[in-house]
Amino acid sequence: MESTALPGDLDEEDPAEPPNLLAEPAGCPFAHRCPHATPTCHTEAPPTHTFTPDHRTRCWLYA
Ligand code: SF4
Repeated sequence: MESTALPGDLDEEDPAEPPNLLAEPAGCPFAHRCPHATPTCHTEAPPTHTFTPDHRTRCWLYA
């Protein structure tokens, strides 16, 4: 099945390098490995964007 994940999807997971939940970063927890990261991603937590009631994301690309 083809993935429909978008950058910042809350359900997106990378078992090879999960975010450290004990050391919350200042910005987006995926900023250090996201190819779309901007300087804002490293300093400010992204807002939640709702596509549908069952599909939300936290990503500056959709702010
Ligand atoms: S907020 Fe920035 S770092 Fe996080 S997934 Fe979106 S583009 Fe990537």
